[in-house]
Amino acid sequence: MQTIDHWIGGRPVDGTSGAYGPVTDPATGEQTAWVAFASVAEVDAAVAAARAAATDWGTSSLARRTAFLFRYRELLDTHREEIARLITAEHGKVHADALGEVARGLEIVELACGIPQLLKGELSTQVSTRVDVAAIRQPLGVVAGIVPFNFPAMVPLWMFPLAIACGNTFVLKPSEKVPSAAYKLAELAAQAGLPDGVLNVVNGDRVAVDRILEHPDIAAVSFVGSTPVARHVHAAGTASGKRVQALGGAKNHMLVLPDADLDAAADAAVSAAYGSAGERCMAISAIVAVGATADPLIEKIVARAAKIEIGPGTSPTAEMGPLITKAHRDRVAEYVRAAPAQGADVVLDGTGFTVAGLEGGHWLGLSLLDRVSVTSDAYRDEIFGPVLSVLRVESYEEGVALINASPYGNGTAIFTRDGGAARRFQLEVQAGMVGVNVPIPVPVGYHSFGGWKDSIFGDHHIYGNDGVHFYTRGKVVTTRWPDPEDGGVDLGFPSHG
Ligand code: NAD
Repeated sequence: MQTIDHWIGGRPVDGTSGAYGPVTDPATGEQTAWVAFASVAEVDAAVAAARAAATDWGTSSLARRTAFLFRYRELLDTHREEIARLITAEHGKVHADALGEVARGLEIVELACGIPQLLKGELSTQVSTRVDVAAIRQPLGVVAGIVPFNFPAMVPLWMFPLAIACGNTFVLKPSEKVPSAAYKLAELAAQAGLPDGVLNVVNGDRVAVDRILEHPDIAAVSFVGSTPVARHVHAAGTASGKRVQALGGAKNHMLVLPDADLDAAADAAVSAAYGSAGERCMAISAIVAVGATADPLIEKIVARAAKIEIGPGTSPTAEMGPLITKAHRDRVAEYVRAAPAQGADVVLDGTGFTVAGLEGGHWLGLSLLDRVSVTSDAYRDEIFGPVLSVLRVESYEEGVALINASPYGNGTAIFTRDGGAARRFQLEVQAGMVGVNVPIPVPVGYHSFGGWKDSIFGDHHIYGNDGVHFYTRGKVVTTRWPDPEDGGVDLGFPSHG
């Protein structure tokens, strides 16, 4: 069986820890590979390779860095299909969705191609007589990225292209459930001419993560994953003096006002709740229906849900694939089974669904819960599966208060024809990303992505200008070229004249 090892110093490196984890095809439930789990020594080797490359890369010209990024962009473009196939084979999402993920990741490489513009400093001349001040941003050194299973290519691409463009070197720890796409990204970077050691990949589990968090040569850590692990990564990373951005889980609400176009809202709800089997941090998992909207909206959602084709991600007609693991499938199904006892009506129950001939796959059908209570497990927890909850409220104000009471604040959306209400919502809702008649408002690459509250730990959102700031630190240079008549001792604190 194939083994996926590490990529260190520009070449494949076999795992030596003796620890491996299984990689599974979610559509069949069968193991397809082993992935090496890095030991502390193997993480140290990757960090040493990154450190050895840091000075040369960090002082390389912007022209050299952008030349690599443009070549890399072209290679990724040429290999879109192959990367998407690797994603589907290990994650299970359908091919078109995997291609969409690659496209959104490519956006950040394209952003990074413009790094000379993004890194331009500031200059103030003559702040005092013959004194100028320049503000520049410099790389941090070695930085690391730890990523989740649900976007095997896009989330790594949110991180390392921009970090590298800023002059850092990088150690990436992919999810052990889906290691192949990230490995391919590293191979292609080498093919595009990235010097050895600038991008390293260590596969593994929490042993690797915890070593990254304490390693004295790593200056910063970007993390994307669940809230409990994000909280741990932020606490441990900052305790050892690192800059940390840790993006966590979510519970994304869609507020539907009575004046909304209910057909558009139903299309959006089904797409955003069940796309990628609900395994997106920006998935809509709770509809907050105002006034009399709930009944007609549910009717329209049910009609659309009945037409969704579920099947292996390799099938050209499938719209939704399996869940990542059998254990996760069972956990998601349990929320649906437990819902009636906690007061909800089960409108659609997908727990019995399977695909003929692929009964070992991690299948679930679409589930829809109505009259869900804010105290129920289905509402309070991030389910991360194809389960959509409907909560009924009387007014816009009650809806916003409900959303704002959630501990999460990743994305949210309002569906309405009322511009005034939409404008109020943008200002009043407590979430980092807001959609107006847009259910999954993932910002384009030249803006930044991030939530509020328990959906993020740390001060910087990811990519865009926040990404450039996160991966660099500021330096301000004050310069004087004195004329012969200047001079004289002055013990006063420097002031301007
Ligand atoms: P996860 O938190 O289980 O794993 C994320 C990473 O952390 C993986 O690389 C994993 O190996 C590592 N890890 C897991 N447990 C650990 C531990 N105890 N100690 C140290 N490291 C550990 O997340 P996941 O299941 O892979 O991904 C799904 C989660 O990610 C969901 O909660 C989803 O909302 C979230 N997510 C958030 C965003 C965002 O931008 N906010 C984007 C994608 C996914």
